Amino acid sequence: MEAVLLREENITQAKVADSSKAAKAQLTDSSKKSLVGQQYRIIGNHSAVKTCGWTKNMIPGKGGCYKLKFYGIMSNQCMQMTTSISCANRCAFCWRDYKAPVSTDWKWAVDDPEMIFEESVKAHHKLLVGFGGSSTKNEAVFEKSKEIKHVALSLTGEPIMYPRINELIETFNKAGISTFLVTRAQYPDAIRGLKPVTQLYISLDAPNPKLFKEIDVPLFKDYWERFNKGLEYMAGKKQRTTVRLTLIKGMNMSQFEEYAQMIRKGNPDFIEAKAYMHVGASQKRLSIGNMPMHEEVVGFSRELAGRLPGYEIVSEHIPSRVVMLAKKKFKIDGAWHTWIDFPKFTELVNSGKDFSAMDYLKKTPASLVGLSGKGTPMNGIKHDLMGMASEEQMGMAAQKNSRQRGIPPEEHGRTPKGKQISVDEKTKEMEFWQRD
Ligand code: SF4
Repeated sequence: MEAVLLREENITQAKVADSSKAAKAQLTDSSKKSLVGQQYRIIGNHSAVKTCGWTKNMIPGKGGCYKLKFYGIMSNQCMQMTTSISCANRCAFCWRDYKAPVSTDWKWAVDDPEMIFEESVKAHHKLLVGFGGSSTKNEAVFEKSKEIKHVALSLTGEPIMYPRINELIETFNKAGISTFLVTRAQYPDAIRGLKPVTQLYISLDAPNPKLFKEIDVPLFKDYWERFNKGLEYMAGKKQRTTVRLTLIKGMNMSQFEEYAQMIRKGNPDFIEAKAYMHVGASQKRLSIGNMPMHEEVVGFSRELAGRLPGYEIVSEHIPSRVVMLAKKKFKIDGAWHTWIDFPKFTELVNSGKDFSAMDYLKKTPASLVGLSGKGTPMNGIKHDLMGMASEEQMGMAAQKNSRQRGIPPEEHGRTPKGKQISVDEKTKEMEFWQRD
């Protein structure tokens, strides 16, 4: 199906650059080659699919991602993708290297949403075929993975930049596939004009313009106005919304009141406080000392919750070093209802009726609620970094960096002496999956 050149008026976000030049792909052949080498599958001129580490983790029965625990997403049935590899920010903590495309304007061919849908689904299935031959696979989980139930529009870049994002979302809605979309809110009009998604995310990496510039390295001059406008438009959304904080130790983990103000502006249903992960090209820009331990994320979340009386801490996922807070309205008759009733969402979104986040919720399994009081296991770091670097290398990097960033020696990327805690990395989610 041919890519089409779009007239100005039906683009709700990135301004079209000179349309005569618009018929090109977002990626150069060399960057395409390098991404394919990293197990990406490039779809058309500007989209990509890649199997999520947690999908791979779940197939042999080792448990799913934090969104399974918090919201009921079945990680083995989740497709991770993007509709724009290009982004308008160059975040310091991003695992992408700076060769990745960035732009404020959309200056490429615009692919047809149906084509993106079909080819992404095909590519996703092809990527999972290999698991069929694995002796460690959980047969039932693998069988289920052949049916995509969730799409995460977050893989890389800025998916909302894609001019026909609404048509693609409608295609997923019609297919009964839930939609989680993540944006950095540099295209506020796109947020305002966005069709209903199952859960909309805005990434809040810094609560003031100075730190935002340092951490997100935005291309837009009016980045801060755009970001605030994006939060305001999020507050107007009826379906589920989430603000996610990426916590970088020594950089953005102390401005509690400023964060609270920004969060109030977006008025999200959920807040996720998540540790920066020392992976990929971010290792050239930040160091392991900047990666907070889970117990530090818990400490931060408690401080934040103290300033947001409308919210409460609901759950945590230690392997991902993330804590989730939810609006108290999701606590019904004393029980949390943060899980999603996906069939109900599909029914409502395709009915054309007006509906809100409270119309498609589901009770959160009680054993997934609460904080365990456990922290990052000593071996957790290796697990987290997926073997990115040896312990010794990490130790030296942490030492060196902590000195540079003035982090006190006893906190050099390790759990202080006397607080040795070990956690079973295998999450409990499988029980729920098997039961459903
Ligand atoms: S929701 Fe995100 S983390 Fe979970 S399986 Fe899907 S892509 Fe992976």
